[in-house]
Amino acid sequence: MQYVSTREGKCPVSAAQAIVRGISPDGGLYVPLEFPVFTCDEIASMEGMRYTQLAAFILRHWLVGFADIRIASMCEAAYQRFTAPRVTPVHSLDARRHVLELYHGPTSAFKDVALQLLPHLLVESAQQVGEQRDILILVATSGDTGKAALEGFADVPGVRICVFYPEGGVSEVQRLQMATQQGENTHVVAVHGNFDDAQSGVKRLFTDPAIAAQLDAQGVTLSSANSINLGRLIPQIVYYFSAYAQLTANGAINSGDAVNIVVPTGNFGNILAAAYAKNMGLPVKKLVCASNSNNVLSEFIQTGVYDSNREFHLTTSPSMDILISSNLERMLYEIAGRDAGAVQGWMNDLKTQGRYEITGQPLETLQNLLWGDWAGEEEVAQTIAKTWRDDRYLIDPHTAVALCVHQKYVQATGDDAPAVIASTASPYKFGTAVLGAVLENPAQLPQDEFECLNLLAERSGQQIPEGIASLKALQVRHTAVCDIQDMAHELTW
Ligand SMILES: *Cc1c(COP(=O)(O)O)cnc(C)c1O
Repeated sequence: MQYVSTREGKCPVSAAQAIVRGISPDGGLYVPLEFPVFTCDEIASMEGMRYTQLAAFILRHWLVGFADIRIASMCEAAYQRFTAPRVTPVHSLDARRHVLELYHGPTSAFKDVALQLLPHLLVESAQQVGEQRDILILVATSGDTGKAALEGFADVPGVRICVFYPEGGVSEVQRLQMATQQGENTHVVAVHGNFDDAQSGVKRLFTDPAIAAQLDAQGVTLSSANSINLGRLIPQIVYYFSAYAQLTANGAINSGDAVNIVVPTGNFGNILAAAYAKNMGLPVKKLVCASNSNNVLSEFIQTGVYDSNREFHLTTSPSMDILISSNLERMLYEIAGRDAGAVQGWMNDLKTQGRYEITGQPLETLQNLLWGDWAGEEEVAQTIAKTWRDDRYLIDPHTAVALCVHQKYVQATGDDAPAVIASTASPYKFGTAVLGAVLENPAQLPQDEFECLNLLAERSGQQIPEGIASLKALQVRHTAVCDIQDMAHELTW
């Protein structure tokens, strides 16, 4: 399997090259030259596989050039820190709604599924392409990627990692998770700005030749752990096949039945992985894209107009507080019939005017594949409360966005086919918002975050995930704050 850039469409590179580079030198994202496709028999055989076996089975098709035995051992190593035996278990609310719990990794967000594997992929890839320099990973995070990447890369030899997050733009648990991160090779910086500012700042660092030269002189090269990196995307395809296998195994669906997949979306990485799974033969009817009040994506799907010139809202689902959605570029490439020139034009419009518009065939293709809508803050709180009340099931605000939009989808279209709903974070990452939604009397909401978590655990009879419960006793190690234009100064520490 080889990969090309969405803005070039030629000059294929290997999987290892694409992973080491993160982003193509022309500014585009790497996409496969063609999609591997599974037969029905192959998909049926997944029922009998453990998660790590399934991951290795799927990854082999993407990571051409990697030894099978290495892929298998990397998958074993990556998923041993997940607390659920099935890694990404499905919890069925009823015959139609199947919640895919993606948050049982060490940092309690779905990002762990890819970021526990990425360090292994990156080190292996660097060896394959003969990269001798140390690797400096730059991350812009809206809350969850930062911690998951830090946890994945902490103390990995030959790698350093620097994370930028928007000051005041993440939840208290998310902030503490990053600020207390151990590992001499880690650095965490709060920036004055929102996530889009931080992400644009990181992109500038990547493309600044002076910085590249300076780092090169020190024997260092840059790479990315953001979801533009192919090594982030590929592992996320696996859990959609796993969900399907779990549903056929327990009789919720028959082999071959098509399901809808609902994903709470920000940077479009997770839902793109679902689209890739469909391209690989997974029976998927509709992909439902769920936005929070930063509803740039759902509006794009409805109208064909992508317009980032709008107010930026801070919400209770901060990991989706994004107006410039990087991975959408990979979708644009597919719906444009793999026309790199068209993608270049749209991305240029986005850069110069903050806006672009698609019409005709690409729009039709997009709307055949996807349906989009959004949930406001009040609806999110109501969905958390209702799901707790009616289903005795605690969900985080991102998952609530997905459940709420799924309900809107069923109402609008009448399509009540079985749905896989991606649950992207543990409710304990967003204690104040979740407890605030389930309390009958909001005046009872404690000021202290950990008291909120204790109360939630008490009410639900669940345990607070270990990585979150332990935060209270950990020392804050990272206190750096900087302006967007000063991010380059943070690269040495
Ligand atoms: C990152 C994240 C999302 C959005 O995922 P994308 O791949 O950026 O669309 C949704 N929910 C949670 C909890 C996240 O951490």
